[in-house]
Amino acid sequence: GPQDQDDLLAGLNPQQLAAVTYRGPALLIVAGAGSGKTSVLTRRIASLLRSREAWPSQILAITFTNKAAGEMRERVGQLVGEAARGMWISTFHSACVRILRREAEHFGFTKSFTIYDSGDSRALIKRLVKEHEADAYGLTPASVQGRISKLKNELQDSESYARDANMSDPAERVFVEIFADYQRRLRKANAFDFDDLIGQTVYLFRAFPKVADTYRRRFRHILVDEYQDTNHAQYALIHELTRPVSADAPDPYASNGMMIFEPETTPELAGASLTVVGDSDQSIYAFRGADIRNISEFERDFPGAKVVLLEQNYRSTQNILSAANAVIGHNFDRKDKKLWSDRGDGDKIVGFTGYSQHDEAQFVADEVEALHRAGMPYSEMAVFYRTNSQSRALEEIFIRSAVPYKIMGGTKFYERAEIKDALAYLISVANPADEMSVRRILNKPRRGIGDVTETAIARFADDQGISFRDALSMPSQLGVGPKIQAAIGQLDAVLTEATALMLPASGEVPPPTVVADGLSLLLAKSGYLDALRASRDPQDEARVENLDEFVAVARDFARNNPEGTIADFLTEVALVSDADDLDDESGSVSMMTMHTAKGLEFDAVFVTGVEEDLIPHRISAGEPGGPQEERRLFYVGITRARKRLHLSLAMTRAQFGEVSVAMPSRFLQEIPAELVDWRQSPGDVNSRGGTQSRALNARRGGGFGGSGGDRFGVKPLAPRDRITPLSTAMDKFPNKVTGKVRDNGDLELAAGDRIRHDDFGEGRVDAVTGEGAKRIAHVRFDAAGLKKLLIKIAPIEKL
Ligand code: ATP
Ligand code: MG
Repeated sequence: GPQDQDDLLAGLNPQQLAAVTYRGPALLIVAGAGSGKTSVLTRRIASLLRSREAWPSQILAITFTNKAAGEMRERVGQLVGEAARGMWISTFHSACVRILRREAEHFGFTKSFTIYDSGDSRALIKRLVKEHEADAYGLTPASVQGRISKLKNELQDSESYARDANMSDPAERVFVEIFADYQRRLRKANAFDFDDLIGQTVYLFRAFPKVADTYRRRFRHILVDEYQDTNHAQYALIHELTRPVSADAPDPYASNGMMIFEPETTPELAGASLTVVGDSDQSIYAFRGADIRNISEFERDFPGAKVVLLEQNYRSTQNILSAANAVIGHNFDRKDKKLWSDRGDGDKIVGFTGYSQHDEAQFVADEVEALHRAGMPYSEMAVFYRTNSQSRALEEIFIRSAVPYKIMGGTKFYERAEIKDALAYLISVANPADEMSVRRILNKPRRGIGDVTETAIARFADDQGISFRDALSMPSQLGVGPKIQAAIGQLDAVLTEATALMLPASGEVPPPTVVADGLSLLLAKSGYLDALRASRDPQDEARVENLDEFVAVARDFARNNPEGTIADFLTEVALVSDADDLDDESGSVSMMTMHTAKGLEFDAVFVTGVEEDLIPHRISAGEPGGPQEERRLFYVGITRARKRLHLSLAMTRAQFGEVSVAMPSRFLQEIPAELVDWRQSPGDVNSRGGTQSRALNARRGGGFGGSGGDRFGVKPLAPRDRITPLSTAMDKFPNKVTGKVRDNGDLELAAGDRIRHDDFGEGRVDAVTGEGAKRIAHVRFDAAGLKKLLIKIAPIEKL
């Protein structure tokens, strides 16, 4: 009864209440950011379950990200408990994978099909572009991939496209051939690319109506969040699922194969009820085929649909909302809706202009630490950027400043097998005692070294009391055949050469690029790269590109740390790849692109790189509606913040190896000046007229004092923990002198132990997490606060 729903409906405003309790075939909820759209969707599901109007298995809820799906599932679980099990709450992609795994055998795939991520399909397309000599027609892998993806989102295949295309144009003919070939190869590989997951499910439903009917009978309530970002294929999928089911013609030979006198029919069924929620101001995926018209034409597609508008924002303070309203108001061609909040004005927005992206990153790290000291958990803070490549500068400073962070929706670059192999090579040089790494590369690339040989090496090493690595230097004594001896000898020679380069004998100072050089040498002379290049597997091409990128990371490292050693490099990488494991009770700062941020909220938000060419992005300039979509993206970014919003930019930015001068984004001028408190404004920087180093010195002096700062009424930041520059800290590693890397690998540490750190002084170990080379000590330093240290190489001793 309604009594049961009291807690579900508590605190809802009248419009929200209407949306949760409406019952009918179709419901559209349109409203601005933070007005409770997702909350209403969640409560609506709970309400349907609580009132027994639906079984969990009859509910299909679509969210935009896996994270959002997880949160919605958890929230419904809190509201209705056990009854929440068995619902499908997932993204379009995961729902389709689930359906395809069950049904793909209907059209010639097996259950174990592979999913090509965009890198895998790029590699395949690259090969096809080459085979078809398509560059002669100006076709690049990127352009072909983009066009194929767009067409698939429109549910077009190469044949339907060819019917409309101008096939007398040779470039069009080649494109169509590549498109057709690409599909053939995917099928041969028993693989779907990302777009296929949706498109092929629609195809499945259309080609096999009986299959579709089973899902139509199953899902009686379909709810879609972020509907403004559905593309045509997703729209079609929803349409297929919400079709009425016509009564089945009776099967006279039903199950038992004997004629039954009154055969049972499957009854007719009305289409599932559909609820969609969205905000056309947050439509940010037009470049991927998202179509706002899916919202604006909802009432036409679903006659009699109920429409609910929400206007109160429950997320942000009024200052943040006013900035958001002002920015989005600059988009023409939209219905004006003014969000309001009763949470008070709140703090002003903080603006900051750095000299470089490193300077900007330092500001973010300082601010994060200041907020943390003031009591805000790291998990309540988020840093946004427009492009993934911007994250590296931020990560570097965060690592150095010991700010725990995690990258959301990143590529998991360091988890890729080839990157792990490359790391194993580096580790085999840096720390030959790390047997796991040496074993990992023993037969990578294939050298004919199998388990038997591996065991023989290990036994010999044991007998002689030497390391596994050193045993490789004595192949003739291992009791293995001449071919294998030669293979081992070769690996040993490569490692020895790289060691001489990267860890030169005492007195010699290696060049700054030593890590990148050593890495290139290892990958080349081991035959690892050659083996990938010789392979015909398109995934191997993607692997070569990833390794190139990894070498570029090492070169970047050299630029930023001229005295950095291989150990320093491995530290950075280990901490990056372990970022997610660094989670503790105080959590981590979340880093992500503005696209990924959609639907999320945080107490404090840092929107970084607020510069022309980044936001709005350079590529949007020539696109119709591009700058407007970028403005919506910026609107999405700033409306994630509950209490604190920071907008930052850099005056110069290095990208693709070039340093360029950056201009403040036009969107900054759209924010009323009185809402922003500039800690260091572009004007401020210019009026100082000082040199970069002078200004930087002023900054290092602590805070943002000086005349410029005062003029803007700036309070200096609390002094942050002194972080020893990497180059100085690393002088403590004795490897330059002795050829040995500091290795605390055996240091036993446990909670409660007291230690001394060369820079941070004395502290007490709170906890030890991770394993082996990646063990991390969480140490509460008496003066420097909580830090996380990679035990293996941290300059610490037990007291
Ligand atoms: P977005 O457009 O960013 O996806 P949204 O419209 O989905 O936002 P929600 O995320 O559902 O908004 O809600 C924003 C915040 O407001 C959440 O923290 C939510 O718990 C809170 N909220 C929503 N409705 C109410 C309410 N009636 N009373 C109090 N808080 C509410
Ligand atoms: Mg939402």
